[in-house]
Amino acid sequence: MGLIHCPMGAAYYDDEPCIDCGLCSAKTKEDMVEASKRIRDYLRAHAEKRRGPSKKIAVCGKGGTGKSTIVALMTNALRQAGYLVLVMDTDESNPGLYRLFGFDQQPRPLMALLERFSLGETKPETEWLKQDEILVQDIPSEYLLECDSLKFLMAGKIADPFQGCACSIADIARGFIEKLVLKDREIVLIDMEAGIESFGRGVERGVDTVLVVVEPSFESLALAEKISYMSDGIGVNKVMAIPNKVTSEKVEKRIIEELENKKIKVIGTIYFDSQINEASLEGKTLLGSSSAEEDIKRITRLLLVE
Ligand code: SF4
Repeated sequence: MGLIHCPMGAAYYDDEPCIDCGLCSAKTKEDMVEASKRIRDYLRAHAEKRRGPSKKIAVCGKGGTGKSTIVALMTNALRQAGYLVLVMDTDESNPGLYRLFGFDQQPRPLMALLERFSLGETKPETEWLKQDEILVQDIPSEYLLECDSLKFLMAGKIADPFQGCACSIADIARGFIEKLVLKDREIVLIDMEAGIESFGRGVERGVDTVLVVVEPSFESLALAEKISYMSDGIGVNKVMAIPNKVTSEKVEKRIIEELENKKIKVIGTIYFDSQINEASLEGKTLLGSSSAEEDIKRITRLLLVE
């Protein structure tokens, strides 16, 4: 294995396929472009099985667009609709998602399963993660925060200088998402790291739906286009945008036009909500009677019938 991170996870899981894409041995830019094409073709060819209802949903977008808030509000809407929701935090830097759900501490992260992050503890039990299929009930309770129909899981955080890169955390998250098998009325909502680095690592490879949160800015719209391109490249063809923090109908119309020009479907808009803004500042649970909550309920209903 060279300097390039294997997008198939072949370096980490013995049973992951090496597809001979040539990325890890690429010496030139042309080699890398060719390897990327092979990966893209392979993933597209294997994307068929992902058609069907949205059950594994990655929430992506530029930093600060409100991904975590939307994950929290959507979780609540899904629970109210009778779903068991597994929330997965795969953002290696954002420290406070668990607080939005009313928990006062983080769960043991999946990265503790990696020897280099286990910090001298007894060797963790990893067999459950190596199964071909992982059911929600297979996840050991120490890796979960639970409250009725909500389960919260965290891939891990880089907390200290020189702790190393996050690729191995991404590997573990990707493997878990792919192997996770959800029963009827179970959904996983994944709060992704901001930007597109996670796509470079293929973390979203196992999801069936990508929701892109877009704020009214050129950068956010440009990133949405890139995310749509990357999603297609890893075989996820259900990509929908949620314009967030929208201040007027004029702004909403403009964003929708821009997204449609980029061939990105909009599933619903969330208008700017000062209550949500204030709660976010406190890192609090965002439940109540805010207008954003109503917007999200509408979006969630549409998502469930998509
Ligand atoms: S050839 Fe491609 S799939 Fe195989 S190990 Fe290298 S990067 Fe991974």
